[in-house]
Amino acid sequence: MKQNLCNRRTFLTASTFVAASTVFLKQNEVLTAPVANEKMAMKLSFRPYELKLNHPFTLATSTRTATPGVQVEIEFDGKTGYGEAALPPYLGESAESVSAFLKRINLTAFANPFETEDILDYVDKITENNTAAKAAVDIALHDLIGKLLGVPCYRLFGLSPQRIPPTTFTISIAKPDVIRTQTKDAAQKFKMLKVKLGRDNDKEIIETIRSVTDLPLIVDVNQGWKDKRYALDNICWLKERGIIMVEQPLPKSWWEEAGWLTERSPLPIFADESLQRISDVMKIKGYFSGINIKLMKCTGMREAWKMINLARVCHLGVMLGCMTETSCAIAAAVHLSPAVDFVDLDGNLLISNDLFQGVRLENGRQLPTDLPGLGIKKIEQQT
Ligand code: MG
Repeated sequence: MKQNLCNRRTFLTASTFVAASTVFLKQNEVLTAPVANEKMAMKLSFRPYELKLNHPFTLATSTRTATPGVQVEIEFDGKTGYGEAALPPYLGESAESVSAFLKRINLTAFANPFETEDILDYVDKITENNTAAKAAVDIALHDLIGKLLGVPCYRLFGLSPQRIPPTTFTISIAKPDVIRTQTKDAAQKFKMLKVKLGRDNDKEIIETIRSVTDLPLIVDVNQGWKDKRYALDNICWLKERGIIMVEQPLPKSWWEEAGWLTERSPLPIFADESLQRISDVMKIKGYFSGINIKLMKCTGMREAWKMINLARVCHLGVMLGCMTETSCAIAAAVHLSPAVDFVDLDGNLLISNDLFQGVRLENGRQLPTDLPGLGIKKIEQQT
């Protein structure tokens, strides 16, 4: 009986589809492939959503326990693509500005989501900034396209998940005993760690971590060192303690100093705050060893992919980073991650109310499913 019901349901779905499709068939023409209804239109909807952090997130000037975000859906031909804008306050976008931006988007001029370049070019030209809002549209479109084609996004880019590097996990700044406990826990699950430096206790933090683990470590100075010779001395010290890369050691506008430091540094120096979008990549060559790409800063997967390829032409290393995000935006970056050198995609692991499942941490790597699109599924919202 169950079998019959199943067959009947399949039949109804199929016959409904054929009935709709045959409207566009000439007499005697054989239906061999899905035919799109020309009157179908993409429908974009969105809603604000607050990401709750597992632990308070402390920066030099503030502490926060939540990150605002906006969830986006684009529907077409019975499929729904999911996207997301994650909005840490220091980037200048808010749920209000993203909502205002998304309200201006009119997708009715486009026949289908496969006009991706035209759609994203149109979206990009609506305003100059709003990169996270643009990324939400881009991510939803890629999820939708993957679902319509029945393939995971990594295949749209010709990538294999087997090449995904281990992700770093960021140890947050705290008192030594807390750092020790955090590091011990993280070392069980991750193959590579990251820590924020740039205050007056850098060496104490590194020695605390090194008292617990010898795992490869990336340091992110977030522009915190204000002298190039001091930075070089620190980097030489870090090299001896198994640090493998340094992110944004000097203020973002210190180009000459960055070039001086990169030339002499025994460790690769990656730019983060010094770049945002593809137009910045060419400027990086000669001043840094590599770039940190974030979907929320660069308008999404499409531009990130172009940045990765341009960076390769410029002989630059590439890291993929994130904000605190649900598994939706993290999955989007994970699908591109086989193409990069360093992966820093721990954002979904830092929140307590993820909306999706579909990224799994396995042997220190963030892996996608092989389901179509981003490969994510909505889960019940936790309170
Ligand atoms: Mg950084």
